[in-house]
Amino acid sequence: MRVALFGGTFDPPHRGHVGIAKAAADVFRLDRVLFAPAGRQPLKTEVRPAAFSDRLAMVKLVCEEDARFSASEIDAPRADGTPNYTVDTLAELRETMPEAEIFSLIGADSLLGLRHWREPERLLELAEWIVASRPGFPLGELAALGFTAKQRARIHLLETVHYDVAATDLRRRLREGGNCSDMLLPEVVNYIAAHHVYG
Ligand code: ATP
Repeated sequence: MRVALFGGTFDPPHRGHVGIAKAAADVFRLDRVLFAPAGRQPLKTEVRPAAFSDRLAMVKLVCEEDARFSASEIDAPRADGTPNYTVDTLAELRETMPEAEIFSLIGADSLLGLRHWREPERLLELAEWIVASRPGFPLGELAALGFTAKQRARIHLLETVHYDVAATDLRRRLREGGNCSDMLLPEVVNYIAAHHVYG
């Protein structure tokens, strides 16, 4: 069984998320992609996200898109209010799914910041990494990130995707009353409207 953790804020989940998850599942023959919204992102402290319950509900809608997708609460808000660290999440996954081959799916922007994550060396030991290209974040800089050859062998590039969409822009457009149906699934558009997620 090949399982990918797909962590993120998903505020809201958009076509870029769906697109890279589908492509990753196809190219890397993933049996499951676990969309795991984070209760508290350690590195995104400046923006307070929508409620976890809303982000999880939207992620569940998006996961209806593909039988290989499922929503996971593994990164639900912690009782003590501490942030969700990917290194802990991957360790937990390895424990609960000892037979599985574990991957971690991220976008190119996340890879460029990986050295600031908690325990970067261990992160690369705990999973194989699938890195999707993202407009504005050239992966050509990979050589400059200082990975060892062994670590580099665990980083797999998914360069066939090109989704020029970011949740930050969508939130701004939604707050201004704009229409984001080009970048959001209809079910997510309806959920946002019904629950006034972005005002
Ligand atoms: P924000 O604009 O709020 O920072 P985001 O659109 O980057 O949000 P996240 O939920 O933080 O979305 O992303 C989860 C993961 O998906 C991250 O690893 C991110 O790099 C990746 N990702 C998001 N959007 C894209 C995209 N358009 N192309 C490639 N990867 C993406």
